[in-house]
Amino acid sequence: MTLPGKEATIADVVSIAVECIDCGRNRWWKPAELRRHGVSGQTPLAALSERLCCSACRADGLPGRAVSIQAAFIEEHERRRREARRRNEREVPLERSRRA
Ligand SMILES: [Zn+2]
Repeated sequence: MTLPGKEATIADVVSIAVECIDCGRNRWWKPAELRRHGVSGQTPLAALSERLCCSACRADGLPGRAVSIQAAFIEEHERRRREARRRNEREVPLERSRRA
């Protein structure tokens, strides 16, 4: 999804899945929710795993640094929304007959 030569940043994503490899917990975050972790729109995705850690593991006294990041990009999100809209249109018979 990323253009060659352009590093993906938080500004390109709608949400970020953070999965802890140690305990298996995972959660989707909105970029705004990550702001308090020092993550801004300019933060490269590659730098995310260094900034985030698993709070559950931290509570157990473990480092919680083994997190894997998965990002949902904005274009992908838009495309899915458009696809869903098209599906909805097909389910409305009036729309179809008007077009035919
Ligand atoms: Zn964990």
